Amino acid sequence: MKVLVTGAAGFIGMHASERLLARGDEVVGLDNLNDYYDPRLKEARLARLAPHAGFRFVRLDVADRAGMERLFAEEGFDRVVHLAAQAGVRYSLQNPHAYIDSNLVGFTNILEGCRHNRVAHLVYASSSSVYGGNTRMPFSEHDSVDHPVSLYAATKKANELMAHTYSHLYGLPTTGLRFFTVYGPWGRPDMALFLFTKAILAGRPIDVFNHGRMRRDFTYIDDIVEGVLRVLDRTAEADPAFDAASPDPARSNVPYRVFNIGNHDPVALMAFVEAIEAALGRKAEKNFLPLQDGDVPATHADTAELNAWTGFSPATPVADGVARFVAWYRGYYGV
Ligand code: NAD
Repeated sequence: MKVLVTGAAGFIGMHASERLLARGDEVVGLDNLNDYYDPRLKEARLARLAPHAGFRFVRLDVADRAGMERLFAEEGFDRVVHLAAQAGVRYSLQNPHAYIDSNLVGFTNILEGCRHNRVAHLVYASSSSVYGGNTRMPFSEHDSVDHPVSLYAATKKANELMAHTYSHLYGLPTTGLRFFTVYGPWGRPDMALFLFTKAILAGRPIDVFNHGRMRRDFTYIDDIVEGVLRVLDRTAEADPAFDAASPDPARSNVPYRVFNIGNHDPVALMAFVEAIEAALGRKAEKNFLPLQDGDVPATHADTAELNAWTGFSPATPVADGVARFVAWYRGYYGV
């Protein structure tokens, strides 16, 4: 199968590309290599993919309409894994336009490319942030998600709405995956695990938001990628009975679906910090701060739908995943 992976130089994109290549798929990896965080890390991820015969890299911005039209027309992708996006909740407070360009204009170009070039399945990254301040736990795909609390979350919910129209109007099979706080080797430098590990090793205090009372459904990267691949391999046509049985009327005859991918085992932020301390063999000095604007106090994924569709639910314990991240971090940075 020939797969377009957007955001291939990113954290999840690199891992997803590696797995697709390992099983023999042809991967065209697209990324604009922006400087939201250290571009050298993105280059290093690409260097891991480059030796695979089935891999080709294209530097392109998903918001570049003409470039995207050309790419889709020339390449003829069977499936698309769309992970390129401006990520991060806090950054969206200062840089709203980056989210509109990459997440809305870019997503439109992806939808149009899939529609006009008969892509068999578009799988794209949504986010647990669409649940906003919902307090009913665990978060289910059937919960109302009309109250995002950051522009980032609003663009992810907008992606789901846009995907629905393309599934409805053109029969384009689309699946949105609501990832829950993904972590692991090659992870993002703007996220807690990376920031905490870096600060603890440098002997600096760590910023613990919401005074440590946060709970997060931390989900290990290999589980995320397993979910992405299992979902990618199925299309709407594969099991019409599933859709007919769905309690959501909007799904009954449209090849559109959305799944949570989370560990369904939320961990208190302080327990997460303890896991990092244990893996590093060092104690952290903590700087307790209030909840940041746009952040939510808790996340918890209900994964029953994902499990019903794929037979899979994430299950890596946080202590194991954190230890694997720390081992990678020490090796990569030589500390
Ligand atoms: P990442 O920032 O490491 O990867 C995204 C990649 O996309 C980057 O390499 C970036 O250069 C590229 N990119 C950004 N804008 C682009 C554009 N306009 N054109 C081309 N390339 C562009 O982030 P990640 O953690 O790997 O996240 C992947 C996807 O999953 C994103 O859509 C993100 O919103 C979503 N997500 C991630 C998490 C998480 O915890 N990591 C949680 C929920 C959702």
